Amino acid sequence: MITTQSEALYEKAQQLIPGGVNSPVRAFGSVGGTPRFIDRGQGAYLWDVDGNRYVDYVLSWGPLVLGHAPKAVINAITETAVKGTSYGAPTAIENDLADLVIDTVPSIEMIRFVNSGTEACMSALRLARAYTGREKIIKFAGNYHGHADMLLVQAGSGVATLGLPDSPGVPSGTTENTLTAPYNDLAAVRDLFERYPDAIAGAIVEPIAANMGFVMPEEGYLQGLIDLCHEYDALLILDEVMTGFRVGLGGAQEAYNLDPDITCLGKVIGGGLPVGAYAGKRDIMAHVAPAGTMYQAGTLSGNPLAMAAGLATITALRRPGVFDSIAEQAQKLTEGLGEIMQAQGVPVQIGQAGSMFGMYFLKEAEAHIRDYATAKQYADTARYGQFFHAMLAQGVYLAPSQFEAGFLSAAHDIETLEATLNAAESAIKQVTA
Ligand SMILES: *Cc1c(COP(=O)(O)O)cnc(C)c1O
Repeated sequence: MITTQSEALYEKAQQLIPGGVNSPVRAFGSVGGTPRFIDRGQGAYLWDVDGNRYVDYVLSWGPLVLGHAPKAVINAITETAVKGTSYGAPTAIENDLADLVIDTVPSIEMIRFVNSGTEACMSALRLARAYTGREKIIKFAGNYHGHADMLLVQAGSGVATLGLPDSPGVPSGTTENTLTAPYNDLAAVRDLFERYPDAIAGAIVEPIAANMGFVMPEEGYLQGLIDLCHEYDALLILDEVMTGFRVGLGGAQEAYNLDPDITCLGKVIGGGLPVGAYAGKRDIMAHVAPAGTMYQAGTLSGNPLAMAAGLATITALRRPGVFDSIAEQAQKLTEGLGEIMQAQGVPVQIGQAGSMFGMYFLKEAEAHIRDYATAKQYADTARYGQFFHAMLAQGVYLAPSQFEAGFLSAAHDIETLEATLNAAESAIKQVTA
């Protein structure tokens, strides 16, 4: 595979943009090699600037649930754009998308659109604090909620600890109200509530922890979290930026029958344009300005192009059978991968929910990953890096990190499935040879 154009562009980009990329994981840091510069996408496929074609399982990290450049979405964006790109005044299409989301995601009664998942989570926490009059929040090690200061805390493994920032530039004062607990551990959350019974505004959680690989919630964990929060008059914020419209049509909350107080959305809701949203119960959302006193604003929030893309995407996804057939492809893919790895005697932990999946290579056959500590301990990142490159060389584009989820779209079909499984069989033979 020739990659000279990507190499030249990457070289140049590194002079112009820190690390050559506008978001760190794109740089292939954890798998090595040169990131592919993309020229275009269509359906399930990506083409890089050297003309190589890949079956895409990253899909812009989740948003492209219909695949690349679906006609309905491109038409909606184009028709909207010729009228104008932004007004800084309300438009009817904001009502349309709000209506559709409220109708699709069970717990949501009101919604505020922002420009990214980061903004959604940051604003959701401000809202929980404003609503409860409390300052502490709980987050879970290995969960990612964007790069707002007070959420850039992962904390060490094991016992719950006070938050220390993960990144230079985040003042310790900003994270001193961020408490952390291991994922899938209700006892640790109860400990935190017992320690600070009147000070915790809420907990924010990824219903499937898909920014440390793919860790499913254990039976009763998420409902247990909601119950604990409510026992202490705190709110549960379900971060469905990734799982929304993916784990179920109505998100993880529909699939697992949960009723969170606040929901964060992003990715799919913008159909490939920059959008986020925070949403929830009417009496909570009523605290947001100008209905209430919690300030939050955005020059481009509710941008008509983004609203049009989101509306077209979710409308298409809601057509009978569309979501289920993507989920079915995802299930076939993970079953196929599982069989291949088993036949080669390669220990893996595979997860799939709706149109998302993940696969860890395990350092020990008996290992089970259930939180950030076990992910770091047992995930074989070196083997993943080799597998990733062997797949890439055969035209399959997986996430360039063991600790990211994979995504399918409505454009993935039996052809992409067979190509992927054939590539995987040959890749794992190369890796283990
Ligand atoms: C991607 C993601 C975010 C951040 O969204 P951005 O649009 O990248 O700011 C927040 N939470 C979760 C669960 C995510 O997967």
